Amino acid sequence: MSKIIAIANQKGGVGKTTTSVNLGAGMAALGKKVLLVDIDPQGNTTSGVGINKADVADCIYDVLINEVDPQDTILETQNEGLHIIPATIQLAGAEIELVSMISRELKLKKALNAVKGNYDYVIIDCPPSLGILTINSLTAADSVIIPIQCEYYALEGLSQLLNTVRLVQKNLNPHLKIEGVLLTMLDARTNLGIQVIEEVKKYFQEKVYKTIIPRNVRLSEAPSHGQSIITYDPRSKGAEVYLELAKEVISYE
Ligand code: ADP
Ligand code: MG
Repeated sequence: MSKIIAIANQKGGVGKTTTSVNLGAGMAALGKKVLLVDIDPQGNTTSGVGINKADVADCIYDVLINEVDPQDTILETQNEGLHIIPATIQLAGAEIELVSMISRELKLKKALNAVKGNYDYVIIDCPPSLGILTINSLTAADSVIIPIQCEYYALEGLSQLLNTVRLVQKNLNPHLKIEGVLLTMLDARTNLGIQVIEEVKKYFQEKVYKTIIPRNVRLSEAPSHGQSIITYDPRSKGAEVYLELAKEVISYE
C-alpha cells in the first residue's frame, strides 16, 4: 500500500522543501520506493535533486492543466529509489487557470492515482500559500506533515492551516490525517528553541515527532549542489537526523 504525504505550511522558509527532499531521500536509503511531487512554482525540490529546470519537457503543470500522463513526467534522481514529478515556473499560471476548470480540486488526486501504485511513499512539497495547489495536495494526500520552524511566532498562522485541513476533510477528503508536526531549524544554543518546542508540544501533543531537525549548514548547502543531504554529506548531522525522521515516519505506518 502506498501512502501520500503532503508537506504543508503556508509560511515560507520553514523547511518544507528541505524536508521533502531529505525525508524522501532518507526513505529511499532505507529501501522504500519514493515519488517526490513538486507542486511549488519555485521548483526548489526539482533543482534540489539535481534537475535542471531548463531541461524539463513536461512538468506537474502539464499534468494538472494539459492532461499529460503523469507517468511521462517522472524523472529519476541520483538517489536510487527516489523519483520526482518536477515543477517549473510555468506552474505559477496554474493557480489562475485551475479556477475555471471542473473538479479543479481533484486534479492532483486523479493524476497520482495513476502512478502511486509503483511507490511506497509519495511526498508532495506544497507552495507557501493555502491556494488551489495546496488544496489539491491536501485532497490527494492520506496525511499531512507540518514543519514548524523553532523561531519566534512559530505557531502564528497555524490556525489558518488547520482550518484549511478541516475544510478539506469536510468537503473533499474525509480520510486526511495529520501525520505529524516536525520541529525544524532548532538552534541548540538558544533558550528560545526550547520554549518553542514546549509551546508546540502543548498544542500538538503526541503528534510532534521525536526527531527534531537542528540547524545544520550542510543541509543548506546541499541544494546548490543539486543533492539530498544523504548523497551530499552522508556523515553530517543533517543526514543523521533526516534518516532518523524517515525511520520514525515509516514506523507509524
Ligand atoms: P520552505 O520550503 O518551507 O520555504 P526551505 O526548506 O526552502 O523552506 O528552507 C528555507 C531555507 O532554510 C533554505 O535556504 C534551506 O536551505 C534552509 N534550511 C532549511 N532547513 C535547514 C536546517 N535544518 N539547517 C539549516 N538550513 C536549513
Ligand atoms: Mg519550499
